[in-house]
Amino acid sequence: MPTGKPQLGATIVGLAALLAIYETAGRWLLPRMNPAVSFLITTVVATLLIATALRLAIRTRQQLLRESEHTLESLRTELTFTEQQRDCLRSILDSVAGGLVITGADSRVQFINSNARRLLGLDQRLVGRMADISRDPQIHQAFATVLGQGRQIETRVEARDGQGNNQGKRVLRLYAAPLRLNEKQIDGVVGTFIDITQLEKLERIRQEFLTNVSHELRTPLSSISAFVETLLSGGLEDRENSVRFLQTIQRNAERMRDLVSDIAELSAIESGAVQLRLEQFPLGRLVDEVFLALGPRCHKLRVQLCNEVTEACHVIADRRRLEQILTNLADNAIKFNRPDGKVVITASAAEDDSQILISVRDTGTGIPAHDLPRVFERFYRVDKARSRDLGGTGLGLAIVKHLARAHGGEVSVTSEAGTGSEFVIKLPARVAADSLPVNIRPETSVASAAADEARRR
Ligand code: ADP
Repeated sequence: MPTGKPQLGATIVGLAALLAIYETAGRWLLPRMNPAVSFLITTVVATLLIATALRLAIRTRQQLLRESEHTLESLRTELTFTEQQRDCLRSILDSVAGGLVITGADSRVQFINSNARRLLGLDQRLVGRMADISRDPQIHQAFATVLGQGRQIETRVEARDGQGNNQGKRVLRLYAAPLRLNEKQIDGVVGTFIDITQLEKLERIRQEFLTNVSHELRTPLSSISAFVETLLSGGLEDRENSVRFLQTIQRNAERMRDLVSDIAELSAIESGAVQLRLEQFPLGRLVDEVFLALGPRCHKLRVQLCNEVTEACHVIADRRRLEQILTNLADNAIKFNRPDGKVVITASAAEDDSQILISVRDTGTGIPAHDLPRVFERFYRVDKARSRDLGGTGLGLAIVKHLARAHGGEVSVTSEAGTGSEFVIKLPARVAADSLPVNIRPETSVASAAADEARRR
């Protein structure tokens, strides 16, 4: 592409040459020309030539200006494209599920995504060195080993919360891999942090559960095999005792059956395999049915059952599952009651009408304050021996808790040792229209029906 300067120079040289030729030719061809006329002609010709040269110069400058503007524009476009690519990469790295820390060959932090900041408790503070990220020697060692040896490393690390407390401690799995921009050298380290706190917790719970299950099964199983052995080694001759032994075997077999069915039930509810069939029905009638089924049990213990749920009170729930909840609670209320005690079931509306509260109250032994927060845990019993003697599996309240949650509700307990306990199930008074069968009107407020009834009484 021609540049402006040589062109301009050539034009000026050309103009000067033309003027010199004109002057020389004039002097030779018209030696007697009036000097004034000659001066005029020279001035006109020179002016014309200068104007032409100026025009040319201006045009050249304009062209140059246009070219540089064009170059500037394409540079700007390239820069925007690079910035967009960088932002895109940053947002991709930010949206990956794990925490990402990338360091250079000098071990300085080149990039850290928001998940890594959250997992390592770093807020928005500036990070430059690895020490700014964590003081955990294991993390430093992992990054250093990858940089030094060029091999991948996988390790478990524990990260404290932002304030350095152990309380909000997270367990992380760190995968560190070398970053290679070409084959010859290691240019840095890519560290990925995955939060495995919940996973480890679940694994612990699973282990505990298995230990508890095998322990719970072992006791009746040992008892069965001991009595069978006794019967086989001559016990059968002793008719009176052999009947007693067989009854014990039967009781233990029933306990095992109850345990296995409760475990299956609980795991089905927990895994979400249980589908609720919501319907609207009168609660009082369901309580009557529950009490009827438990009748023989309470005659034995001389416990009085009182259904104080009004006829107008309707609930929206899975009938079979609510029956299971009430049976478990009422059964406990009978089992842990005193002779001539009472079990009362009532229902009321929450203040804001959003929930219906079903209460199961007893006049029994009560639950000590320090045991209260744990009674909904699987296999937790206040008095293990008593619970087993009464045929309990230790899973009843855990099933109640999960079923209440499956309904979008919850269960709570208050108790006073020696006076009695009260378990309250809170169920939503209204449910989403699409989760109900068509014959149920979602605008029906169970809570308001209960509230109306309470007012009427
Ligand atoms: P269990 O099969 O032993 O009844 P649950 O899960 O139903 O198991 O209850 C757990 C424990 O909570 C019981 O063993 C008992 O110690 C305590 N508990 C439950 N309900 C009552 C109650 N109404 N009164 C006193 N203690 C209770």
